[in-house]
Parts: sequence; structure tokens; C-alpha cells
Amino acid sequence: MENKAYYGAISELSKINFSKPLVFCGKKSFEKIKPIIEKYLKNPIFYNDFSTNPKIEEIEKAIQFFNNKFNFDIIIAIGGGSVIDFAKIFKFKNNLNLKLIAIPTTAGTGSEATQFAVYYENKIKKSLDDPSILPDISILDTQFLKYNPKYLKATTALDAYCQAIESYFAVKSTKESRDFAKKAIELCRDNLVDYVKSNDEKYAKNMLLASNLAGKAINISRTTIAHAMSYSITTKYNLPHGHAVSLNIARLMEYNKKIDLETLNDPRGIDFVKARMEEIYSLIGTDNAFDYFLELFKKINIEQIDFEIEYIDPDRLKNNPRKLIMEKF
Ligand SMILES: [Zn+2]
Repeated sequence: MENKAYYGAISELSKINFSKPLVFCGKKSFEKIKPIIEKYLKNPIFYNDFSTNPKIEEIEKAIQFFNNKFNFDIIIAIGGGSVIDFAKIFKFKNNLNLKLIAIPTTAGTGSEATQFAVYYENKIKKSLDDPSILPDISILDTQFLKYNPKYLKATTALDAYCQAIESYFAVKSTKESRDFAKKAIELCRDNLVDYVKSNDEKYAKNMLLASNLAGKAINISRTTIAHAMSYSITTKYNLPHGHAVSLNIARLMEYNKKIDLETLNDPRGIDFVKARMEEIYSLIGTDNAFDYFLELFKKINIEQIDFEIEYIDPDRLKNNPRKLIMEKF
């Protein structure tokens, strides 16, 4: 399955053939999004009865609401990662063979370019990973990003940055995924701070692209330990995903940099891992990840919070090139 990305404008929607769209969008953004969507779509059916980090009950509620009376012929998800993930899970649970169009309104998760979705069941994070939920089309339009408050911009952009970095050294990384990740890292390095601080269209466009490329990268490579540790931080401290992930990224980079034979977890060997780590540091332009992220956090007003790790996602652990020894981490 291929994900086709349209860059530029939501008006691209008019080129796609459908008559009754089901539109998923966020509760908060609904009032702003509705008039824009109605300009381009006739008779949209809107659904927004779910929260950020969607819960299984909310998905079941949506399924019951439509009760198999699907009189729509396409699904459009317009929102941040949670909205796009919600649409993916809805499509999957109903076994719908309809096209899914994703229009991200944050520059961060890259969910529009991945075949996975996250939801919560009894406060425990679950993920769905299936090729059928890769959006068929993504529309990357910067006009939605300007409504985002600074903290949302910062946390979502950090998610993109961390996803690109983790992807670059992931055990499942390939030449193709590293090419996507490299471009995403460069774009984050050069645009993230200005994107958070200003409303300049240029930075928004570059960060939307960075987030899409990071999505493409992790769709191949998956993420690693910074993500594995983030989910319990998100539930316990009620921190946005990108903020939770970013709290671990510097420590993870420094940890992987010190890889040794005893902790090697990548079949491609120790020299391979070391070379990839060196490339990341040189791409970012630092030799100390702690200093780099401390400085970055200061610039975009992100607090470095102390936390306890209660749960680590085992699948993502396996994808880190260095085995996790907590005492050394
Ligand atoms: Zn993420």
C-alpha cells in the first residue's frame, strides 16, 4: 500500500472522487475546522466525540453510533495524531474498505504517514500496527498549524525530532528509512525553534515536511526506548506524548553512543551502530546530547521534569541497538 502526499492546500480534496465523507476531527478544533472543511466538501458527517489519547470505550462508542449504517464513502481525519489514530482504529475495527485521507493539523506525530495507531485500554497503551490503516492520501496544509499554541507546537515538533533520531539508530532501520530520518533531522535542526516561536509560514511548512518524513521513517524502522518509556509518563503525569518522549532522548543518545559488545543488540555489529551514532551527532551538530537538548528546551520553554519509569514497552526495547541495562542508563 502506498501513501500519497499532497503538499500545499486542502483544495486538493476537490480532486479526489467521493460523495459522502465521514470527517473525524478534534473536539477543541471543531469550530475552527468546520467552516474550512465545508468550503471544500458537500454534506460532511462530522464526528468528534473522543479525547486526546483516545480510549477503547470511545472507539466502541463511535462504532455503536454508526451501528454499521455506513452511508459514507470515504473517511477523512483532520487533526493531530490522536484524531488520525482514532480514524485508523475506527476503520480497522469496522473492517472498512474505504479510502482514508489524513490532514494533520500539528507538525509532529507523522501519523498521516504510518500504519500504526495508539489507543488506551484501562490506562494502558495499546498499539495497532497494520498495513490496512496506512492513510491512502495525506494533505499537508500549513493553514491549520497557525492555530496551535506554542506549547502544542513545541511538544509535537519534539515528537517529530525524537522519532527521526530514534528511527536513525533503530535496529529495524534501513537505508531508505535513514534517508527519510536524515532529512527530518536536518529540517528539525534548522526550523524547530523558529517554528515554535514565530508564525512564519516557511518554518511551519518545513516542520510539516519534517514530521511527514519522520513518519515515513518510523513506518519502516519503528521507534525505540525513548518512546517505550514515554507511555507511562504520559498517563502518570498527564504529559503530552512529545514532551514525554523528549525527556528521554538525550539520555538514550548518550547511552547508545557508549555501546559495547556486551550490550550490543543490533545484528549489523558494533561498528555499524557506532557509525550511525556518530552520524546523528554530527547531523545535529553537537558532541553532547544533554547540552544540546537542555539548550533546545530553554529556547522553546520546555520543562525537564523528573519522573519515575513504571512501564516499558517490550517491543520497542528490542528495537534499540543497545540492550537496556537500567543501572547503566
Ligand atoms: Zn511519537
